[in-house]
Amino acid sequence: MNLNDPIGTLRGIGPKKQEIFRSAGLETLEDLMLFFPRRYEDRRHVTALRDAEIGKDVLVEAFVLQKRYSGNPYKKNTPLSVLIDDGSARAEVVFFNGRYLAGLFETGVTYAFYGRLTENMGRLQLIHPQFAKAGSPEDLRGILPVYPEIKGVSQKEIRRLQAEIAPLAAELPEWIPEDVVRENRLASPSYAIENIHFPEDGRRVLVSKFRMVFEELFTLQTGLISLKRGNAAVGRGAVIDCSHGDRFASELPFELTEGQKTAWQEIRADLASTRRMNRLLQGDVGSGKTVIAEMAMYAAAMSGLQSVIMAPTELLARQHLKTFEQDLGSRGIRCVLLISSMKKSEKTEVLRAIEEGEAQVVIATHAVLQDNVVFRALGLVITDEQHRFGVDQRRTLSAKNGEANVLVMTATPIPRTLAVIYYGDLDVSQIRTMPAGRQRIHTAKAGKEERRKVYEFAEKEIEKGRQVYVVAPLIEESDKIDASSAEELFKKLQRFFKNRRVALVHGAMKPADKDRVMAGFAAGEVDVLVSTVVIEVGINVPNATVMIIENAERFGLAQMHQLRGRVGRGSEVSYCFLITDSESDLALQRAEIMCRTSDGFEIAEEDLKLRGPGELFGTRQHGIPQLQVSDMLRHADVLEKAQKAARTVLERDPALTAEEDRGLRDKVIAMFGEHLSLDL
Ligand code: ADP
Ligand code: MG
Repeated sequence: MNLNDPIGTLRGIGPKKQEIFRSAGLETLEDLMLFFPRRYEDRRHVTALRDAEIGKDVLVEAFVLQKRYSGNPYKKNTPLSVLIDDGSARAEVVFFNGRYLAGLFETGVTYAFYGRLTENMGRLQLIHPQFAKAGSPEDLRGILPVYPEIKGVSQKEIRRLQAEIAPLAAELPEWIPEDVVRENRLASPSYAIENIHFPEDGRRVLVSKFRMVFEELFTLQTGLISLKRGNAAVGRGAVIDCSHGDRFASELPFELTEGQKTAWQEIRADLASTRRMNRLLQGDVGSGKTVIAEMAMYAAAMSGLQSVIMAPTELLARQHLKTFEQDLGSRGIRCVLLISSMKKSEKTEVLRAIEEGEAQVVIATHAVLQDNVVFRALGLVITDEQHRFGVDQRRTLSAKNGEANVLVMTATPIPRTLAVIYYGDLDVSQIRTMPAGRQRIHTAKAGKEERRKVYEFAEKEIEKGRQVYVVAPLIEESDKIDASSAEELFKKLQRFFKNRRVALVHGAMKPADKDRVMAGFAAGEVDVLVSTVVIEVGINVPNATVMIIENAERFGLAQMHQLRGRVGRGSEVSYCFLITDSESDLALQRAEIMCRTSDGFEIAEEDLKLRGPGELFGTRQHGIPQLQVSDMLRHADVLEKAQKAARTVLERDPALTAEEDRGLRDKVIAMFGEHLSLDL
């Protein structure tokens, strides 16, 4: 028996069972060993029936007084009633598939029963409890692990399999360096595994879990830190003369905010050094990240280097092009657009311009990742709205030129602790201040019966010359269905806003059509824009002052925050209405948070509390290893300890080549190997 063996090698596991385990993510004996109980049932103490609490799970020990069928004993599903007595009281044990069980009980013999105690017409009952002959090998006593449910596999079976592979745990070697073990008082891996599956008391479970969580986070942190160092060490970064960026800023019609200034100083220091920049710039929608990007790109161009900004949609790329042509084009910088929907002849020309270095600033979608795009001297790569790109894509782009500095911009603020984990290979800058004069967006929740009032309010705004967004409900992650719901809403709104220009844009439309509608809205030719979430990212129409979100309960906080960020971009007071009838706690809490604050970082922190980090990010997409036993929120304190330990070890042995660090090195490579190339 070996940890890498498939589960199918275990006794009683055929191909069918193996497939069930596989679809639950368990393939090897090691996976099974790391499949930890969700909770434990404490069955160490027998309760007297007289003292037992109704509605609680109890372990009782009682002898059988009599057995009785309450129906035709020859029918298969006849209930069986067993009367038991433990000396303190009597109770009735009921089984529904009685015929099969009847033979298992002998009157006058003592059994242990475990189950929920109920009461029926003054009589104590145990419905379908677990049971075993007292003192038999299957005795129910002890602390019993309860595993996450796998359909088609019983708890009993999982416990049996855990018992079968238990000897493997004894062979697990300690691989964490000795000083770290000592400093953090870590239990050994064999002790930990044994006590997680077969605990003798609660304290041992805690000590054991700590060990397992620590080892996972320790491995993660070691990987992330060395990743970051590797980037820094390998990546000689193109040097950019940032005084040009300073000048650009001084010529702007406004002064940079404090947050922008700090961010620029950090970026500036990276760009001016020979170390390659690898930085994440976080800032709310409208906090002025684009200006910072322009400063950096202008400085790059003036230093004789090309730069590219990659947007997640063609719409956004086009919008950026407009801004960049205005701001950089006017200063003699040649900006080009590269998107997949371009005409072939156009594309050929753009590719040529990029290859020959004529194109100084490239605004692109993921089309720029293709092999046929060759830069002459790429010095800076910026990705906008990072959450749409994975780590791998980011890397592909920077790999096109080893010296290209990397800046990742995101409007989905992430609490700093988490940013360190999810973007562990990046340095982090934050813009937490908004440009002066930016109005707080008045936000209110409205029930469906108040929808009319909301529309009437919107009508008044239109009268004043403003524009309105209405976001159609999110039905599911299918463009088609979302589109049809948007169309329905569109028709309704056309009827309501009879004399207004109402337009529709949704994800199933052709890009060109989408762009046409959006352009019309931007030009003020449309009063009410009905859309699905395609407009979520980055559209800038300062004259829009009302955002109406239908079925707000279907949107996450981050998404609503993004949507709300579409308004309040001009000097006028803006409004956001969350329309929902949902009474669910989550929906109410989210609405309450939205109404209370507009600070994206605060919203992100609340979101994290409500949902937990896994759901918030979809870790897999980010190329960060999937964690098996840890939960970053609950284990924040362990995370800190693990990070500290990782730092200490890497400082002492940067490439982890010493004998005592080999085990760690293997673990890190096993965790990261598939995703990222480590420079260990
Ligand atoms: P982001 O990309 O972070 O969403 P933008 O860079 O698009 O934000 O900025 C939103 C708007 O605010 C733009 O019209 C921009 O010109 C303007 N802006 C940026 N920085 C400032 C500032 N410091 N003061 C005033 N307006 C600013
Ligand atoms: Mg932006």
